[in-house]
Amino acid sequence: MENEAVTRAALDYQGILEQVAADVAPQIGGGRPAEYIPALASVDPRRFGMAVADIDGQVHGVGDWREPFSAQSITKVFTLALTLARGGEELWAHVGREPSGNPFNSLVQLEQEQGIPRNPFINAGALVVTDHLQGLTGDASSELLEFLREESGNPGLAFDQEVAESEAAHGDRNAALAHFMAAYGNMRNPVPTVLHHYFWQCSITLSCADLATAGLFLARHGVRADSSRLLTLSEAKRINAVMLTCGTYDAAGDFAYRVGLPGKSGVGGGIIAVIPGLCTLAVWSPGLDSRGNSVAGVAALDRFTTLTGLSVF
Ligand code: GLN
Repeated sequence: MENEAVTRAALDYQGILEQVAADVAPQIGGGRPAEYIPALASVDPRRFGMAVADIDGQVHGVGDWREPFSAQSITKVFTLALTLARGGEELWAHVGREPSGNPFNSLVQLEQEQGIPRNPFINAGALVVTDHLQGLTGDASSELLEFLREESGNPGLAFDQEVAESEAAHGDRNAALAHFMAAYGNMRNPVPTVLHHYFWQCSITLSCADLATAGLFLARHGVRADSSRLLTLSEAKRINAVMLTCGTYDAAGDFAYRVGLPGKSGVGGGIIAVIPGLCTLAVWSPGLDSRGNSVAGVAALDRFTTLTGLSVF
């Protein structure tokens, strides 16, 4: 406890963020924005922002850290947390918690594994989580949006209709995943309902400041912004563990090697990462690598943990 206090007092987050931004400047603009969702393809790949929220809710940022971007798969962490908080362990009979080693939207493992997705952070697994959250709440995407507004303290957070509709219009692969799981009896609600909530969930826009703040319950071992408890200590630890092993898809090993933190990426170019007991980090830069993770975002988190020596290892 004493050591932790010393470490926290010694951390000059603003100075570190400025150093990180300077160090990764050559990588900003690398990679390509997601092209399979047309509404995301037009975002300028040279944007870059990063924020840190400490467990007391103080936020520091650099670059475009107040600029809203498309959350996409980062929402999968939040729907998982809400589903576990309401439905408990029962979810794990319907989705695994092993790294997939496959792209986030892959269909190949589903048939071999009888419609049970490998983990909640690939698209198939996230569709199962959204299906369960829909069953538990009757309106999964609104429940998520409300939670993000409350935790971020930003009541202006909203869905992006253009992004949701763009994704729905080009959503054949997600529809295939959902129908395939329905064929195995692993969808409780009608497929169109689940897809609707999934696309709207992914379309939520938020800034690095919003995201880092909204994710603080993961750094606070399950405790929300209003001091109530969303998750047990053990549930919060387990979500962080699944983020570490599965949060960046088939690059999770490399992410753990380079960054050493639980993290979750999205094809909007954002990544959230957690230092349990200390802070939450959020970074955004739209250029993606071949696995769908932000090039400059991963580089910035790598630099942050290298400069500070912070990691979960
Ligand atoms: N909405 C995107 C999809 O379903 C999310 C993918 C991602 O961010 N990795 O393909």
